[in-house]
Amino acid sequence: MNDAEPNNSGSIDILIDECVKASRLLGGDQSLVLHGGGNTSVKAPFLDITGAVIDALYVKGSGWDLASIEAPGFAPLPLQRMHALLELEQLSDADMMRELSAARLDPVAPQPSVEALLHAYLPHQSVLHSHADLILTLTNLRDGDSLVREVFGDRVIYVPYVMPGFELAREVKRRWETEGNSSIIGMVLMNHGLFTFAETAEVAYANHIGLIGEVETYLASVPASEREAAAAVPHICATELAKLRHQLSEVAGRPMILSRDTSPETLSFVGRNDLADVAGRGPVTPDHVIRTKRTPMIGQDISAYATDYRGYFDENKDRAASPVTMLDPAPRVVLDPSIGMLTAGIQAKDAAIANDIYRHTMAVISTCEDRLGGWVPLSADHLFDVEYWDLEQAKLRLSGPPPSMAGQIGVVTGSASGIGKACAAALLDRGAAVIGMDIADDVELAFDGPAWCGIKVDITDADAHREALATGIDRFGGVDIVVMAAGIFGASTPIGDLEADDWRRVMSVNVDAVAEALRQLHPILVLSPVGGRVAMIGSKNVSAPGAGAAAYSASKAALTQLARVAAIEWAADGIRVNTVHPDAVFDTGLWTDDLLASRAEKYGLTVDGYKRRNLLQTEVTTAVVGEAVALLCSDSFAATTGAQIPIDGGNERTI
Ligand SMILES: [Zn+2]
Repeated sequence: MNDAEPNNSGSIDILIDECVKASRLLGGDQSLVLHGGGNTSVKAPFLDITGAVIDALYVKGSGWDLASIEAPGFAPLPLQRMHALLELEQLSDADMMRELSAARLDPVAPQPSVEALLHAYLPHQSVLHSHADLILTLTNLRDGDSLVREVFGDRVIYVPYVMPGFELAREVKRRWETEGNSSIIGMVLMNHGLFTFAETAEVAYANHIGLIGEVETYLASVPASEREAAAAVPHICATELAKLRHQLSEVAGRPMILSRDTSPETLSFVGRNDLADVAGRGPVTPDHVIRTKRTPMIGQDISAYATDYRGYFDENKDRAASPVTMLDPAPRVVLDPSIGMLTAGIQAKDAAIANDIYRHTMAVISTCEDRLGGWVPLSADHLFDVEYWDLEQAKLRLSGPPPSMAGQIGVVTGSASGIGKACAAALLDRGAAVIGMDIADDVELAFDGPAWCGIKVDITDADAHREALATGIDRFGGVDIVVMAAGIFGASTPIGDLEADDWRRVMSVNVDAVAEALRQLHPILVLSPVGGRVAMIGSKNVSAPGAGAAAYSASKAALTQLARVAAIEWAADGIRVNTVHPDAVFDTGLWTDDLLASRAEKYGLTVDGYKRRNLLQTEVTTAVVGEAVALLCSDSFAATTGAQIPIDGGNERTI
């Protein structure tokens, strides 16, 4: 606290806003910061409720991403207290985090970054930290230390690798006391990243970009390497991928998403003759181990990978201060010239993050190994410390327990609208990834995010369906759940007036296409790590048909019978097949206003009365059907197959 004239809160807001701006510039560039990495801070006064002014550090809080951080993402901490903590000879991680947490000047602020003490120590108002690709390139080399000195001269302090947290803050303090001066604009942390600092966020950012630019200039002076031309995209059967996902999920102890990447850069990297050697050396920065594990799996021998991982754990487990439990030994990155790259994760977004990280990793490894004299990442023992560091694992825990269908993959036909779209939404809500198929153009954009793969396809075309399925399996690795929701009603005519083509069209979409799709899906469903599940969208018309809907009623009856036979035939494979019979679901593409009006008139009812024409007098919406289908496909119905469940508000003709 000081007695100086209180700063006004407007100028404090300006300082924090400038820090937010610089943070977002860093976070918005994937070559600087990836997925929650990096941290930033600003030193500014904190006005407390009594009017006292406290010298404070506003440092990035856990759970915030630099790309989207806002002012509340910074935790205010009293500088005096931070300096007192730095005087301690030793401070365990748990004690440090408790002290940082307790020191927050605002109790609702997020948990401060583990690098808060380092930020607090540096005398500059603005401090920025990234894991820039080009800095990682320079600091993972056989002669990295001399190259860092050659490129940056004495404007930066060179810091050999030290475990992040208290140890790193103490190391920086020790070095700053002897090497620090006003001409120093940054610190290069070997195998880790870059810090820059200045009196304003703008200058600290300019220093950051400036130093990275100098690495770029240096690289331009080094001859480019001859990169192998990328091979053609290798063909791999959908069942082979599903089998690999099955094995990987077994080792992980839970269903996993497995996403394939066959970009030219990836194929060029996996085609390297020295792939196992270079990729097996480690990650570009220890921060990545929780996403990619220490090494990728080369080839497809998952049990050998798991054995190696157990060996690495056993060899290093005694390094931890308190006993640690082994994480699952399944790989998160798979490199194989006959596949490309696969990245694994509990949810599609985790597989996507591992993919982003490893794409940057491959570029850094290639530059280091091919142009700069040799790729030498951090040794396994240091990486183990970070992988099993409770503060790193806490980052994963921040997102909470995974949702109930995390790691599972659904195929939903007819998913651009109506019941299909509602079923897809219900599966996505439960954390599943969904391959959505529909003949409509807008299926691709029906949902946002990495868990959605919308594919425009006419499912009556068997070859097109096979291709769409392969695309979806490339994206997620397999199929666990199938919802057959695509369907058409056809013309509403008495049998005497029925056109043969119309009858044929209804049968083709509602039955033939489903039989063919099931035939194609069976070998994939057999490989589901959690047991396949199929839900057919039938109709009340199966047990209570109405005049004028011969083709529709007959097609849904055939579909129901198909499901019953599949339930019998596939039970031995652990696949459950059930049918729901919705009725009077009016928010679907099948029901036009005209059709609705004519049906209501036929029964002598208003449209609203017709909508609630059931025992419970309730409206059956697509969302109601979607929820019921998702539940039927969940473990709640683990003992149910061959069932037919009405979703119709109750009907005297079918009860
Ligand atoms: Zn870092």
